[in-house]
Amino acid sequence: MAQIVLDNVDKVYPGNVTAVDQLSLEIKDGEFMVLVGPSGCGKSTALRMIAGLEEISGGTLSIGDRVVNDLPPKNRDIAMVFQNYALYPHMTVEQNLAFGLKLRKTPKSEINQRVQEAARMLGLEGYLKRKPAALSGGQRQRVAMGRAIVREPQAFLMDEPLSNLDAKLRVQMRASLNQLHSELGVTTVYVTHDQIEAMTLGDRVAVLRDGRLQQVDTPKNLFNRP
Ligand code: ADP
Ligand code: ADP
Repeated sequence: MAQIVLDNVDKVYPGNVTAVDQLSLEIKDGEFMVLVGPSGCGKSTALRMIAGLEEISGGTLSIGDRVVNDLPPKNRDIAMVFQNYALYPHMTVEQNLAFGLKLRKTPKSEINQRVQEAARMLGLEGYLKRKPAALSGGQRQRVAMGRAIVREPQAFLMDEPLSNLDAKLRVQMRASLNQLHSELGVTTVYVTHDQIEAMTLGDRVAVLRDGRLQQVDTPKNLFNRP
């Protein structure tokens, strides 16, 4: 686990598009931080900079005690889940969960143990031998999350992970995500345009508009004003 600190971070895309403008934000160790705001406000760009998938145009980004401005994604010890969970269709759930660990030459017994643990936390125990085609959308998204957490990353990033699911599943998945976070306690940054998601998931919520941070506070203080 690690804190993530953005200090005056900018992103200017070619064509002089300022997507993120002097963003300063301290995400505490173990915190669930939601980035919320309308489409185009810079949420994904901010998340992708934390992941190292997008270069930073200015400012300083650190993860743990380390400035990571120039550190490639694979050295950041971060796991990310997107809207379109790219599971391997020819592999079972179990094989999908184990794949990243196998690549990293993790011992077999440890792989088994971590896969079982992730399956338990995500309610996938009964589905380990199935292939993705035989799962619901919500179950597939659970597998994508499982694949991220088996790595035991120091931070977990999610970009609109529930937006392809129907309303009922989204409600279920919000509960699962809360449960997962309370078990893992891993520093989490979660991007959504959905205020209800922000409110139910975040320890704190950062509201972005036009690339700038408007407010950052607990959901209670942001949304339940007297
Ligand atoms: P959000 O995730 O809040 O919808 P984005 O971070 O995707 O916002 O986009 C922020 C701004 O940056 C938008 O104006 C978008 O058009 C622009 N943008 C995003 N990606 C690129 C890119 N690769 N090249 C140029 N402009 C981009
Ligand atoms: P994994 O073990 O999950 O396959 P990798 O080491 O291949 O992870 O991924 C390196 C980095 O690339 C990670 O930070 C991850 O968040 C990011 N990444 C993984 N898949 C994608 C994708 N489809 N698009 C963009 N970035 C990705």
